[in-house]
Amino acid sequence: MSDSVSIYIHIPFCRTRCFYCDFNTFAGRERLIPDYVTALCSEITRQKPYVGTSVHSVYFGGGTPSRLDVSDVQRIMAAVKDTFGLTPDVEITFEMNPCDVTADYAAALADIGINRVSLGMQSAVPEELKRMGRRHTHEQTAAAVEVLRSAGLKNISLDLIYGYPGQTMENWQRSIAAAMELDIQHISLYALSVEEGSALSRQLEMGKLTLPDEDLTVAMYEYAAHTLTSKAETVQQELSQNTTSKCFEHYEISNWAVDEAHESRHNKQYWFVLPYYGFGAGAHGWIDAQRIRNESSIEKYIQKVKDSNNRFPAAAEIIPQEKHIEMQDVMMLGLRMLHEGITEERFRNRFGEDMKTIFRRELRHLERKNLIRWDPDNRLLLAPDKVMVANQAFIEFVD
Ligand code: SF4
Repeated sequence: MSDSVSIYIHIPFCRTRCFYCDFNTFAGRERLIPDYVTALCSEITRQKPYVGTSVHSVYFGGGTPSRLDVSDVQRIMAAVKDTFGLTPDVEITFEMNPCDVTADYAAALADIGINRVSLGMQSAVPEELKRMGRRHTHEQTAAAVEVLRSAGLKNISLDLIYGYPGQTMENWQRSIAAAMELDIQHISLYALSVEEGSALSRQLEMGKLTLPDEDLTVAMYEYAAHTLTSKAETVQQELSQNTTSKCFEHYEISNWAVDEAHESRHNKQYWFVLPYYGFGAGAHGWIDAQRIRNESSIEKYIQKVKDSNNRFPAAAEIIPQEKHIEMQDVMMLGLRMLHEGITEERFRNRFGEDMKTIFRRELRHLERKNLIRWDPDNRLLLAPDKVMVANQAFIEFVD
């Protein structure tokens, strides 16, 4: 991995709230966007005196970044470019809701330098999209992919959710096949997590919906993992005559890419525990051995940035990173990467200490439970058949 840093920019605006969502995002607050963008630009340019290494990934997440006007995105990117040096091959990702994608908007994003789009597809099944509170149809997702590609945005990722109430294996297979029919380069699959306070958690409490049983959820993941990586096209062709023979690499527990060049550079920065700035309401950053968490209310965020001259004007919390915690994070997050894992050499170069000495007891436990393996380069990896129980491995590195 390079020693470049990454930037996450949080856009906490959504037209409506999806039922399962507990992200830091708000519906009906668009009147705050102009002040929010001004605060973001101020927070970003505040870093000028401290900038060292160049930036190799920028990620607009949310919320829904595609709620912004093009001129807002231009302003934010101008602040980024004015403050940081970008590597020539910088990855700039923009999360979009499929129904926000128009030819003009896509062309404008490409002009600004956005070169990767993450679309929230979630499902191809109309009743499921409705049950999730999504605003779009699968036809809109398919059309969005075409429009983005025509605008030159040819690095596209889709997010899908499994384990949703009412979801059947048949419908999940339909969604996977529909995703594979599209000309996309990356897929992220998320197991539903029911968050307290979400509309979905209330629906479940009231008995309006029930969660699928755990065995079905596991089977959905296994089916997707097998199908996305299957070179033998038979499984796919059973599901759709139109399905292409595209084959994905399973490079991280929840992520698949057509090749190494299309793996998410931004997310790898997190999994390698490398530094990143987090700008915006509720954003998290990790810079100069400090964990920074910003104020999550939009109004308070704007006010704090206005009122403070500090380097991190909107910080609600700044926690110095302890070396041992950082080592634990490197182990836990490194195991998520199914091919890259953690090399002894990288660990030693980073910490000046030997991974096998520091984590002797933990590694012994994991070996005894057959949860890990070492490859010939002395690279520590999660055992291939233990991906579904990876938490049992991660927990070894929690105090
Ligand atoms: S679009 Fe995304 S961030 Fe917005 S409510 Fe839905 S899931 Fe949450």
